[in-house]
Amino acid sequence: MLQKVEGIVIRKVDYGETNVILTLFTRENGKIGVMARGAKKPKSRLSSVAQLFTYGHFVFQQSRGLGSLSQGEIIDSFRGIKEDLFKTAYCAYMVEFLDKVTEEKKTQPYLFEHVWQSFNLINEGADPEVITFIFEMKMLQQAGIGPQVNHCANCGKTEGEFAFSVREGGFLCDRCHHLDPNRIPLTQATARLLHLFYHFDLNRLGNVSLKKQTKDAIQFILSTYIDEYSGMFFKSKKFLDQLNKFE
Ligand SMILES: [Zn+2]
Repeated sequence: MLQKVEGIVIRKVDYGETNVILTLFTRENGKIGVMARGAKKPKSRLSSVAQLFTYGHFVFQQSRGLGSLSQGEIIDSFRGIKEDLFKTAYCAYMVEFLDKVTEEKKTQPYLFEHVWQSFNLINEGADPEVITFIFEMKMLQQAGIGPQVNHCANCGKTEGEFAFSVREGGFLCDRCHHLDPNRIPLTQATARLLHLFYHFDLNRLGNVSLKKQTKDAIQFILSTYIDEYSGMFFKSKKFLDQLNKFE
């Protein structure tokens, strides 16, 4: 049976001399794998669509294992991302994270919308670091390990000043500070941003512009938290961290 889906290429692996296996994140079917036969040949009609981050319509023959891609039509190749090393590195990290926390063939149209919007915003010039923070929060929720950023993780207090405790899994209020000697102090603005990023709807993202210092603080908190709770290693994150050292 032929099936047509709207999706983004989130992984591309060479298979044999001329074929590639693509992992697509689709609006209709969630994550699926398809074989693009002959796509490595320059004259193949599949070669342009079979590129990492390509957003398009894909027609494939469904079978029990991998589907077989028969046609593809590019909606947006996200050139703004592909032509920029930093943007490419952020997007590579995002798709690796997405791939790790999603199951195959589980339809998640809202998540698809979030991924597509994230790419779109980065492509159009939004700060990839901010989009990635919001994305990381989404992926943590998806994996069922989101941090507690609504109130104190210990006593539930909602007002006052908070620190971030990786060990306690989120905010700690001033009364509960003593529970974690390794807590990370937060400015009120940073605490507000963490809360905002957790609940963010990308539709409402205006021109959010953050100071480098604030971004560094959030980046440190999120990476420490992800290292502690996800049990995942991201090849693309290592590359991204190296790139950022040269900034
Ligand atoms: Zn408390």
